[in-house]
Amino acid sequence: MAKTELSKSTFIRAVQCLKSVYLNKNRPFLRDHLEASQLNKFERGHEIGYLAWKLFPNGIDCSPKYPGAYAKAAAKTAELILGGAKILYEAVFEYDGIRVLPDIIVLENGEINMYEVKGSLNVSPTYILDAALQYYVLNGAGFTPSHTFILHVNKNYVYPGGEIRPEDFFVFDDITSEVIQQQEFIKFKIPEAKAAVNANKSPEVAIGPHCYLPYPCDFRGLCWKSVPEDSPLYLNSIDLQSRFRLASEGFTSISQIPLEGNDNKLLKMEIEARISGKPKYQSSELQKIFYSAKQQVYLKILFIENAIPRLAGTRPFEPLPIAWMALKEDGKFIEGKFSNPYGTFFEIAQQLQYFLDKQDLLIFWGKTTDCYLHQLDFDFPILNLENVYQSESLYLPFYLDEKTPENIATKLGILNGELAVMNDEEAIRAWSGESAKGKYNSEEIQNHLKKHLFLLRELYLYVTRLIEQDTNSLS
Ligand code: SF4
Repeated sequence: MAKTELSKSTFIRAVQCLKSVYLNKNRPFLRDHLEASQLNKFERGHEIGYLAWKLFPNGIDCSPKYPGAYAKAAAKTAELILGGAKILYEAVFEYDGIRVLPDIIVLENGEINMYEVKGSLNVSPTYILDAALQYYVLNGAGFTPSHTFILHVNKNYVYPGGEIRPEDFFVFDDITSEVIQQQEFIKFKIPEAKAAVNANKSPEVAIGPHCYLPYPCDFRGLCWKSVPEDSPLYLNSIDLQSRFRLASEGFTSISQIPLEGNDNKLLKMEIEARISGKPKYQSSELQKIFYSAKQQVYLKILFIENAIPRLAGTRPFEPLPIAWMALKEDGKFIEGKFSNPYGTFFEIAQQLQYFLDKQDLLIFWGKTTDCYLHQLDFDFPILNLENVYQSESLYLPFYLDEKTPENIATKLGILNGELAVMNDEEAIRAWSGESAKGKYNSEEIQNHLKKHLFLLRELYLYVTRLIEQDTNSLS
């Protein structure tokens, strides 16, 4: 048996970037810190996988129990198939120095059907590619699949409560012809990927849109470290391709980009803000939004978005609040209560209206809360602060990979020790007991909410100070 050089994940990595696959194998310690949101995605895969097994009950779990047991597991897989096994979970196949573990294999009437399970609503080109690699290996190992399917989440599924019926939850997509079409590409890419993994030094690959597509690469910290802060590659107001186009046209600094005749208003604002080092804003517009209310009430909702719904009547990935809190201008907190571990936006809206006055302005951050409050015809003035920080009314003088309240506050110097917050994904991991920091109890969740509310208030006050400065300078 040839030495195993590639797995499904290393192959997909190699298709994205040969340097990335080299670094991953030979310099893994240079990897960036993995975001909690990415970790959540990986973990979600296991839960979905076990649910899919129920569609094909009484199968044999072939997954190796420890990292060194792959060769044994591959031998066991072959033995089970030859011995007439009907259903195998995570069976191990090796061919041409590549090892794959298809989620489910069903052997029936002389046919082999392969099922890949995905915790998403759609089939992406990357899913086809990884199924195509599995097909290549199984075919080479003498177990050619007759059909290849992707099992993914049914977007029309509504959880009725009780035990989830996998036959309702999943959708089958037959991708047999697509994986066969991909075989030439797979054969072409394998030698390249192997050469990169086994190279003595890192392949020369320039940074490009591939650093983010299809997945944000976890070596950006290394490869992008010499990109100067004022490079056009760090512009928030235009997409990735446009940034690289500017760089390829020879612009090395945003100060070189001509503003005259440029009708992209946001880009102009961003460049002006970045060059001057000061926020660019339209105080008359901000004033209209900010001074429409007597007093401000800040709202923070912490919610999960699971592929597998937890509450009867909800859909996959439907946001489910797990806690909420509001902060009034007088410093008093309103602590939300749910009768179940999971609540609804409707419950929050109902509870909130007892505390709000018609003149209050309810301030929060994020499209999800915005969308639900609108859907519920919430009868109070609301302000999604995210819209203000992303609008033509205000542009801050720095680049951010993600415009989250925490990132903005850090750059503005607001996020000091007392206000230091973890992001929501980390808090949710802690709440569900998946964090290395230990399981969060309800008091710790309340503290998380409180800190976010203070942060929200600071971000609101930051804008009001800008308006006041402007008004003062005019008077
Ligand atoms: S950051 Fe970009 S160039 Fe560097 S390894 Fe990742 S994808 Fe390749």
